[in-house]
Amino acid sequence: MRITNVRTIVFEHDLRRRLGDANNPAGRTRTSGLVVYVDTDEGVTGIGLGAAPGRAHAQALGELLLGADPRGVRGLWQRMADAEFKLGTVGAAAVGLSAVDLALWDLKAKAANEPLWRLLGADQPRVRVYASGLDMPLSDDQLRVFYQGMAARGVSAGKLKGGVDLRDDLRRLGVMHDALAASGAARVDLMLDVNECWTPKQAVRHVRTIEREFDLTWIEEPARRWDAQGLRQVSDGVAAAVASGENLRHPGEFMPLLDARAIDVVQVGRDTCGVTGALIAADMAFGVERPVAMMNSPGSFMAHAAAAIPNHAMLEMLDAGYGELFDIDQRLEDGWLVLGERPGFGMEFDADRLAAHTVSQASRAAGPSPAGRRAGAGRYG
Ligand SMILES: [Mg+2]
Repeated sequence: MRITNVRTIVFEHDLRRRLGDANNPAGRTRTSGLVVYVDTDEGVTGIGLGAAPGRAHAQALGELLLGADPRGVRGLWQRMADAEFKLGTVGAAAVGLSAVDLALWDLKAKAANEPLWRLLGADQPRVRVYASGLDMPLSDDQLRVFYQGMAARGVSAGKLKGGVDLRDDLRRLGVMHDALAASGAARVDLMLDVNECWTPKQAVRHVRTIEREFDLTWIEEPARRWDAQGLRQVSDGVAAAVASGENLRHPGEFMPLLDARAIDVVQVGRDTCGVTGALIAADMAFGVERPVAMMNSPGSFMAHAAAAIPNHAMLEMLDAGYGELFDIDQRLEDGWLVLGERPGFGMEFDADRLAAHTVSQASRAAGPSPAGRRAGAGRYG
């Protein structure tokens, strides 16, 4: 089997609800994505779903692989990472590489006529999920409705966006807690995500105050993504676990954080240089007995990789319409995402809907960081 062609498409569409965080409190209503198709001489095509800014890199990296056997995914991943050596596997290069890697894994599993979870070695096709509101633009009533809806599907863990106003965080954690308690679970897991808007010292003060009222399972990105000493300072100063990693790309970037025992929950996702990179980072976390939490992905397709990670804890689910251009073979049952038997990632695109939403270039409003970083973040502003 040989790779004969690589094709890329960028799309953009409306979300089902407004999403926002400390960096973008007013929220966003648009999203975008990159579809990478890797075609072969045997008529099997792999599909990767990545971030739109990676398009040029995905096309160029994919073309480097023309003529190669696509089933040698980990070797091809190394070939792509080596090709980006001087630029670095960061930013657009990393998300482009990720999208090609996803297409290769989809292709390998389709060639084997197996769902990806099985090909990757998962023994159970299911992953525990936590509800993630990206909910800063939501009113308390809207917040309650979202988490109650997830609780009705058996979800007993939730992640609130916060970090801007302590009183808001305390009140909204209470709303989220009460809504999730309706799941009937013996314990509700509460997480707070502040998206790097604090200094480490602000983080300790803010979280310690919260912990007088709530048992927080984790505090997410309480310091900059690269600040091993700062993250360790937070972890040492509060009872909650420190979770971070969603903005790291090459798995090697996790090394200083793990070496310093700076993060307690290791977050990986499709942009951790694809399934291959995410699995490498997860293995590194395994070495220091740290659990892994898979980041959200359109339609939660990264659940296939999460199911195969022995130290995986919970997968982030937005349920916001990210995956509405395709159908995916999975269902949410009693708080667990259960994966089906359809080969590969189990995604089937609606060609007409995809064509109707195809754009030459994604707009900034639909990009990964529409508002950039919060003004005054980390400056007590
Ligand atoms: Mg986050």
